[in-house]
Amino acid sequence: MSEPDADVVIIGAGVIGAAVGYELASRGWRTLNLDALPAAGYGSTSNSCAIVRFTYSTYSGVAMSWEGLHYWTDWPAYLQATDERGLASLVQCGTLLLKQPGGHHLKVAPLFDALGIPYEDWDADQLRTRMPALDPRLMGPPKRVDDEDFWAEPSQPLPGAIWTADSGYVSDPQLASHNLQRATEAKGGRFRFSTKVVAVERAGGRVSGLTLDDGSTVSARVVINVAGPHSAKINAMAGLDGTMKIGTRPLRHEVHHVASPAAVDYEHVGCHVSDGDTGVYFRPEVGNSILVGSEDPACDTRDWVDDPDDFDRTITAAQWEAQVLRLARRIPDLGVPNEPRGVVDLYDVADDWIPIYDRTDLDGFYVAIGTSGNQFKNAGVAGHCMAELVAAVEGGHDHDADPLVVKGRYTGLDLDLGSFSRNRAINPDSSFSVNG
Ligand SMILES: Cc1cc2nc3c(=O)[nH]c(=O)nc-3n(C[C@H](O)[C@H](O)[C@H](O)COP(=O)(O)OP(=O)(O)OC[C@H]3O[C@@H](n4cnc5c(N)ncnc54)[C@H](O)[C@@H]3O)c2cc1C
Repeated sequence: MSEPDADVVIIGAGVIGAAVGYELASRGWRTLNLDALPAAGYGSTSNSCAIVRFTYSTYSGVAMSWEGLHYWTDWPAYLQATDERGLASLVQCGTLLLKQPGGHHLKVAPLFDALGIPYEDWDADQLRTRMPALDPRLMGPPKRVDDEDFWAEPSQPLPGAIWTADSGYVSDPQLASHNLQRATEAKGGRFRFSTKVVAVERAGGRVSGLTLDDGSTVSARVVINVAGPHSAKINAMAGLDGTMKIGTRPLRHEVHHVASPAAVDYEHVGCHVSDGDTGVYFRPEVGNSILVGSEDPACDTRDWVDDPDDFDRTITAAQWEAQVLRLARRIPDLGVPNEPRGVVDLYDVADDWIPIYDRTDLDGFYVAIGTSGNQFKNAGVAGHCMAELVAAVEGGHDHDADPLVVKGRYTGLDLDLGSFSRNRAINPDSSFSVNG
């Protein structure tokens, strides 16, 4: 039998696909990342807000994100390589999770305690004095702008906030993917761009390779689907429809870009704010501006997309108004621009908004999918977990019967990959939103 073209082919060279490539190449596997786009991180990664926070709803979610932070703080040493474009960096501006009655903090604080994650528990006075740019009053639950109560005068203060100083955002998500590409290449891994996978091949009961859009084939013993919002399409090509209890689906999301209020240097004094009370999250952005996205409140309609190759990339007036005016309620001095600015892209949403890092029913075919708008931060640790999983399963481990537990490289935490199984029950602890 002839030697396959690669030990492992990774479909996708976004931040997670590139991290999977790097982790496997570092372990000596002959890797090949294929991507339909012309460069690493040009897919949904390129429009990511790249926020690094730990405020998840489940033990495994918090553990992964805390472990994931350390890859960013150790980025140059972790990569063991240079990049002619420079290295991406983590801006540790901190995260403020605003409290509200019945809010997300009630799940998060006990998980932080259980995992020993450093945080401060602010009361209403501390919130008012430490973050004076924010209106510290309770306005929820989130509303649409045409709701007659949208501008109602608040009468109660927010109860406070949970503050984590270690969190922040990565300056340039596309550059981070390129850094991982260069690091992978330094270990002998390869990348092919502008190359679309059109079919998944099988032989002898397992995956055997891929057919590409130019009609050629690539043979491999292992294939990993890291195709972001195209994940369900690739699984269908592999004949896996109906074989997984958790599905994935593309969801359209808008992120808007506004200038800081004239008197506030939000780029340098601001932080990432998770505001379930108005239904938005926001963070500082270079050029003294602010990025604002939606926390998927119940009053907003979810914009599911049937075909990830065909969706509207223009900002809609209704969502611009909803997000920017919610932000203006929280930052009263914000000027609301007439011209909408921002980006539109797709989340790859799993049924319970928790990713799937797993093998599949097709031997040799793996998935790192369903990243649900919240896994940029976990690229490094997801790559590590996938590489450990491939090594274990290809070495004969029965992951379905005995889910692998991976040791966090930096924190030593046990990361239970059973939580990210394709066949888990829907996790009722999830926020069923971008908060995971
Ligand atoms: C608007 C937005 C904001 C976000 N904000 C945050 C945040 O603040 N913090 C956070 O942690 N996460 C965030 N996320 C989520 C995060 O960005 C993603 O989870 C992450 O970037 C996914 O990386 P990936 O490599 O899996 O996928 P992608 O970057 O989507 O890469 C998949 C690649 O697969 C390729 N591909 C698809 N089909 C084929 C095919 N047939 N053949 C060849 N190649 C193919 C595509 O071209 C693409 O480049 C956000 C996402 C979006 C969209």
